[in-house]
Amino acid sequence: MTTHLFHQKPLATWMHEYPLLTPLINKQEILWINPYIKPAQGELSSLSLHTKDIKDAKERLSRFSSFLQIAFPELKASKGIIESPLQEIAYMKDYLNQQMNNMLQGKLLMKCDHDLPISGSIKARGGIYEVLKFAESLAIKEGLLTEEDSYALLAEERCKKLFSSYSIAVGSTGNLGLSIGIMSATLGFNVTVHMSADAKKWKKDLLRSKGVTVIEYQSDYGKAVEEGRKQAEADPACHFIDDEQSRDLFLGYSVAALRLKKQLAELRIQVDAEHPLFVYLPCGVGGGPGGITFGLKAIYGDHVHCFFAEPTHSPCMLLGLMTELHDGISVTDIGLDNATAADGLAVGRPSSFVGETIKSLISGIYTVEDDQLFRFIYELANRENMYIEPSAAAGLQGPLHLMESGSSYIQAQGLENDMSKATHLVWSTGGSMVPVEVMNSYYEQGKKFNE
Ligand SMILES: *Cc1c(COP(=O)(O)O)cnc(C)c1O
Repeated sequence: MTTHLFHQKPLATWMHEYPLLTPLINKQEILWINPYIKPAQGELSSLSLHTKDIKDAKERLSRFSSFLQIAFPELKASKGIIESPLQEIAYMKDYLNQQMNNMLQGKLLMKCDHDLPISGSIKARGGIYEVLKFAESLAIKEGLLTEEDSYALLAEERCKKLFSSYSIAVGSTGNLGLSIGIMSATLGFNVTVHMSADAKKWKKDLLRSKGVTVIEYQSDYGKAVEEGRKQAEADPACHFIDDEQSRDLFLGYSVAALRLKKQLAELRIQVDAEHPLFVYLPCGVGGGPGGITFGLKAIYGDHVHCFFAEPTHSPCMLLGLMTELHDGISVTDIGLDNATAADGLAVGRPSSFVGETIKSLISGIYTVEDDQLFRFIYELANRENMYIEPSAAAGLQGPLHLMESGSSYIQAQGLENDMSKATHLVWSTGGSMVPVEVMNSYYEQGKKFNE
């Protein structure tokens, strides 16, 4: 165990002040209820981001719809909108109830971002949005585009030529690289993805086949980002997509909330004081779940309750928020190895920008063991015919944590009598791009654990 001082205090003192650090260090599954939560309305008005920023991002994505339909024929059916289905998973609810003495009432839904077009993960929201915004600003600056034009013209040779004199760089554990690599290459940018050691080989191969430069690192995600940032700074024609600090990325994710509102209404699902909505979001560096939480709180205020999910080996956001040290502490500082099969969540240090933005908005964070992720993959395949990657399964453990150890939260929110009218929404964050042989190995691993 480390003997470092964190902000002048030895680890033992931190452990005394934050009793949950002990099970966290022991890699036990825990639920942390956020003591810093505040009423949404007041909190939102104190932030530097506002509802109008979410709407602005949504409108930008609409402007791009004509271009996206041309560049990605799979988007014809949705008229150029990149969105995923929302679906009830009642058979999976039965499974969860077998694990928890039928304590789970209400509806269980899955938001199927594993099926998002173009890159098959939640990163098709933030990552793609930031690339599109950068392309738009260049084309407008060069006089090739106005906001009133049909953005289909961005597929023309003269625009590709403009973009080919710029480059885009990003550091990634895999999926962000896929989203940004695919979209940047399609527009004509030169693109470099700095990949951490956790990144899966098939993701690197796929990117290289699209003409993307992939640089591999033997170290973790933080290092890949740092190197990418350094190289990009040296080149004025290079735009670095900063997963840790980017407002654009965050806002790209937040648009999901406006779309979800419509989907819930279509399913005639109410969200109000008597019909709480619980949302479970897998968390890596924090941008995805953070942006979505921000959007959902802006729409539903205190009627939505957002919980983040992290692997027991990589609980970076929990550690950063609980101690209020944000990116001033890494999971390796408390002796954890940041090694998990959930590659999208293998992050040792959270985004401080996200942590500070959502600190008073989220309801809590829980951890989940890798074995459990594989059990969920197996059960979800059998029961719902859905195939997801390990990171994406982390949300499924949320209802169990809430019902087994979240009673203080439910009481504090005055929801004891409303749980039968609740909706539990598990955000499934990736999977459809996983090669079939890799998916089969996940399934087989889950089968072993369930026997
Ligand atoms: C990146 C990722 C997440 C988490 O998003 P962050 O913005 O890093 O918090 C969750 N699931 C999958 C599959 C991912 O690729």
